[in-house]
Amino acid sequence: MKSHTQVVVIGGGVVGASVLYHLTKGGWKDVMLIERAELTSGSTWHAAGGMHTLNGDPNVAKLQQYTINLYKEIEAISGVSCGMHVTGGLNLAGTKERLDWLKMAKARGRYLGMNLEIISVDEAAKMYPFIEKKHFVGAMFDPVEGHLDPWGVTQAYAKCATMAGAEINRFTRVVDLKARPDGSWDVITDKGNVVAEHVVNCGGLWAREVGRMVGLELPVLAMEHHYLITEDIPAVIDPKVDKFHVIDFEGEIYMRQEGGGMLIGTYEQACQPWSERETPWDFGQNLLPNDLDRIAPSLETAFEHFPKLGEVGIRKVVNGPFTFAPDGNPLVGPVKGLKNFWVACGVMAGFSQGGGVGLALANWMIDGDPGHDIWGMDVARFGDWATLPYTNAKVRENYSRRFRIRFPNEELPAARPLRTTPIYDRLVAENAVFGEYCSLENPLWFAPKGMAPIEDVTFRRSNAHEPIGVECRAVRAGVGMTEIANYGKIEVEGPRAAEFLSHVMANKLPAVGRLSLTPMLNEHGKLIGDFTIGRYMQDKFLLVCSYAAEGYYIRWFERHMPPDGVTIRAASMDYPGLSIAGPKSRDLLQKLTHDDVSNEKFPFLSFRRMNIGMIPALVGRVSFTGDLGYEIWVRPEYQRALYDLLLKEGAAFGLTQFGMRALLCMRLEKSFGTWFREYRPIYGPYEAGLGRFVDLKKNDFIGREAAVREKESGGKLRLQGFVVDALDADAIGDEPIWHDGKVVGWVTSGGYGHTVGKSLALGYIAKEAAVANEGFEIEIIGERRPATRLDAPIFDPQGLRMRG
Ligand SMILES: Cc1cc2nc3c(=O)[nH]c(=O)nc-3n(C[C@H](O)[C@H](O)[C@H](O)COP(=O)(O)OP(=O)(O)OC[C@H]3O[C@@H](n4cnc5c(N)ncnc54)[C@H](O)[C@@H]3O)c2cc1C
Repeated sequence: MKSHTQVVVIGGGVVGASVLYHLTKGGWKDVMLIERAELTSGSTWHAAGGMHTLNGDPNVAKLQQYTINLYKEIEAISGVSCGMHVTGGLNLAGTKERLDWLKMAKARGRYLGMNLEIISVDEAAKMYPFIEKKHFVGAMFDPVEGHLDPWGVTQAYAKCATMAGAEINRFTRVVDLKARPDGSWDVITDKGNVVAEHVVNCGGLWAREVGRMVGLELPVLAMEHHYLITEDIPAVIDPKVDKFHVIDFEGEIYMRQEGGGMLIGTYEQACQPWSERETPWDFGQNLLPNDLDRIAPSLETAFEHFPKLGEVGIRKVVNGPFTFAPDGNPLVGPVKGLKNFWVACGVMAGFSQGGGVGLALANWMIDGDPGHDIWGMDVARFGDWATLPYTNAKVRENYSRRFRIRFPNEELPAARPLRTTPIYDRLVAENAVFGEYCSLENPLWFAPKGMAPIEDVTFRRSNAHEPIGVECRAVRAGVGMTEIANYGKIEVEGPRAAEFLSHVMANKLPAVGRLSLTPMLNEHGKLIGDFTIGRYMQDKFLLVCSYAAEGYYIRWFERHMPPDGVTIRAASMDYPGLSIAGPKSRDLLQKLTHDDVSNEKFPFLSFRRMNIGMIPALVGRVSFTGDLGYEIWVRPEYQRALYDLLLKEGAAFGLTQFGMRALLCMRLEKSFGTWFREYRPIYGPYEAGLGRFVDLKKNDFIGREAAVREKESGGKLRLQGFVVDALDADAIGDEPIWHDGKVVGWVTSGGYGHTVGKSLALGYIAKEAAVANEGFEIEIIGERRPATRLDAPIFDPQGLRMRG
């Protein structure tokens, strides 16, 4: 083992091997992998080896496609077989909702270049004769599904990497990690020490233990998972020709051919975590004891849905552990607060995702950017709130729902309520229906008196449609109040704060007493943030942004901060604000403050300290409703008093409470984008319609050169608003947009504009298509509905209300 290296990758499972390969492929050859036993000594060796491209997040789906296509490449370079069997796969629907879900997946596949096909039960039964047809209503066929040999894949990655110069040290355990003053690491192993510039935690089942070596508690939990292999089944005619690969979503089982029999895997309801607090170091290529009683209900369903499988004996049962993050997606990227420490763990589908994870992480390490939109996998999406017990509750929920539909308006119950704001009980008393966002409860809508605060989960308009309409119309006609605690807030201050912010933000900074809206760009000129910056003193700024991205932004700031003169503080929970909006909101505010808030003295985009009644607040004149409105930020201890005061004094103005759902409907009427939907690192600011917030005259900001190029070329896409001739379902996001019979783009968000009485969508289309207004269609639940492209927001296109 050499004494110095550029990178130590800890862990030789499929993920570590992929990271090592991608680092060498990207040109970093002085890299080393350390594995405590033989390669694949964690989850990898006993995996069922299934692979598929379907994923709820289209960006993750793209990386899954990449992974599957990669196997031919590593086989060719290494000469090691990956044991690939691309059989194609049947995704069976047992209910109408599931078929709707599959139709939506197929539609999304259109712009991802996936060739998915919806077929009848009869057609499905021709492909897979074991089906008891009465349990199913239809199916989707995906030609790019199959399975492979987990050992072969890992060896192939490893061989490709060593051929390019990587060193692999097996039977060597990393026992500790110590940060060196220059940002590199002492990697302490049971066979001697190595100094590494970078360390990557690919510890799989031991990722938590490796994280703890650097004081990090990663939100990862292993779950037990069974599959069994049947004796030969007569209808599997040729055991050498693999034909069958099936997911039965309602039965919550997957299966594939294994020789002359079938491999059946379950995601059972009575799921079982493994090693909840600590993973034993002496666990290796072991299996766990079988617990067939636990999976018996799943097997009964399997034998009902596929009776032939029950007619033969069971040849083998496997029960092994593998890890999940709370939302089931991997944890990838650099860790905020730690220099040169990276993670690639919590990968629950290593054979579908391992290649994409390796690629993104290697790009990130080598180029400073993952090169893909990997927000869905970014380790920064979890904050301190994702404790081990929280992770435990969410992972169990996730595992038992692995094959369940997550409806677009569905809020999941595990680990709730965890974080609440001071007015939570007041909102409960008002019949609020809550959603959870980063473990924080926030009001989505208010059920009218006499109606239970429970929302029907559906792809179509729910029982919340009408109450949300009432909330929207009340805001536009008078004044509404909503809680905005779930906006992210970051305080930036110090003598060099302005210099620093000007460097990381694309727009010019506001003057004291003002707000400015600004995108944040990466070096490639792509959107990595969307901020409202309030400057209330020369050197004091409050940044308002997406809360889920708070950690992501702080990590970026840490990377670009000067060594002194700037202090950054995550302050989201320190300012649980309320917002009032609507034409009467100024009259209400004026009644409660001695400051003059007339349009002359407190115009649009003003920001200042103000007392509201007795309560010290920071008030900004801005509202995501696109109406006249104010955001009022107070310390937590004042939030109840502020809420009570606004409610009491607002009564005279007919004040109505509204929730997040109404807010999102109203922003759609204004064609306002939001972070993670319209604004993501795959779009440029001119494509996203944010060009007016990029100040190319200042020459000091990150991404400026790329932004200049995008402005000149116009980019490739355009974010556009649409009115959709919808039936009882609105677009929700990820639907294809058609024009003249061709797919020209995709929806980023959709919903109903209650005050304009129309179904609306926002989405990106090729810029050449952003000319005509008519001839568009948006595919909603498998049906192409006519859509009209808007040249301007449908509500108040000149912005007279918010500025007036
Ligand atoms: C029964 C079962 C069936 C599955 N079926 C599928 C499937 O069909 N398709 C699919 O895609 N996925 C499947 N999986 C999941 C798949 O196995 C995982 O996604 C994948 O193996 C994760 O790989 P990894 O490299 O992250 O972790 P691991 O395989 O756990 O590898 C981590 C490695 O790190 C090493 N290590 C840890 N700490 C240290 C240290 N301190 N020093 C040195 N080395 C260390 C370990 O020895 C281990 O080899 C299945 C899992 C199970 C259990």
